[in-house]
Amino acid sequence: MKRLRAMREPLKYVQGKGALLKFTEEMGYMGHRWLFVCSKSGHKACHDKIEQSFEDAGSDDYRRYEIFGGISSKSEIAKMQAIVEQDEIDTVVAVGGGSAVDTAKATAYYTGKHVVIIPTVAATDAPCTGLSVIYNDDGTFDKYLFYPTNPDAVMVDSEVIANAPVSFLVAGMGDALGTYFEGRASIRTESPSLEGTGITRAGMALARLCYETLRDYGSQAIAACEKNVVTPALDAIIEANVYLSGVGADNVNCAAAHSFYNGLTALGGHSAPHGCCVAFGTLVQLVLEGVSQDEFDEVQDFCLEVGLPVTLEELGVTTDEQIHTIAENACAPGETIHNLAGDVTPDELHAAIVAADALGRKVLGK
Ligand SMILES: [Zn+2]
Repeated sequence: MKRLRAMREPLKYVQGKGALLKFTEEMGYMGHRWLFVCSKSGHKACHDKIEQSFEDAGSDDYRRYEIFGGISSKSEIAKMQAIVEQDEIDTVVAVGGGSAVDTAKATAYYTGKHVVIIPTVAATDAPCTGLSVIYNDDGTFDKYLFYPTNPDAVMVDSEVIANAPVSFLVAGMGDALGTYFEGRASIRTESPSLEGTGITRAGMALARLCYETLRDYGSQAIAACEKNVVTPALDAIIEANVYLSGVGADNVNCAAAHSFYNGLTALGGHSAPHGCCVAFGTLVQLVLEGVSQDEFDEVQDFCLEVGLPVTLEELGVTTDEQIHTIAENACAPGETIHNLAGDVTPDELHAAIVAADALGRKVLGK
């Protein structure tokens, strides 16, 4: 039987300046007992606004805020699960970055409760997706946990994002940059989506809109974020980074750009943000695919314009041995690089990495 095509996304997505002041109005239907799983900075940025929304609604709902300092590990999830059961929580809310998001998603899944995601940075496309990265207690990677549905709701307060460091926004644009090109590669080979179903036209349209939005509004959004103000351009980029990239990637798939990132993690101790690695990985993928000079230049120009890396040096990769390690690991069985047409070998990937880097050096005059 042919693979079924499917489309999935959060049931509700709310975004805008001061959105959190409408938390109760928008999310109140999910219950009366709330557990907020907060990163330290997320708590600081969001607590007062969320509380204000309950007060404005005259609500006496039970609210518990847990400041969460760890990673999305089994023991942290078990701790939150126990709170949900003891306090008879209806809805788990993530307030923060990746770890808080993944922990809240897993807690809600294991306890059968609703989950709301409040991202406080726009650095990756994790908030809208239907999966979590789970770590062992010692910080090593354990597994991807795939959920049957995406989060009940995602709420982004643009003011919170405008007040976060601009480097997060730029990294998020790098993660979002891969979405269209990785999706296009996956659809060419009739690969399944990230969620294992056939790719829909809707998924592909969101991925394309994601790329167009980045090109149209990237620079303007950075200028706004640097001044901590919300403008239509910043809102467009927040939507691209959080919604279009997340829902896009979930419903299309990843390809070489994300495998490049995974290969890079094998070096250990590298510090470049996920999205910056994915951006350079997108340039590598374009070389692998043999796209025209025009298309390569368009993507490279975008990276230069918003401050995403175009050379390996910017990612802290300096030796040929490191490039070989990345190429070997990026081509491991099960990697999404195999969604590309033809089978990519480590040798071919090595060549593409070297060539993408050379094109970057050339344009930087190095
Ligand atoms: Zn990513």
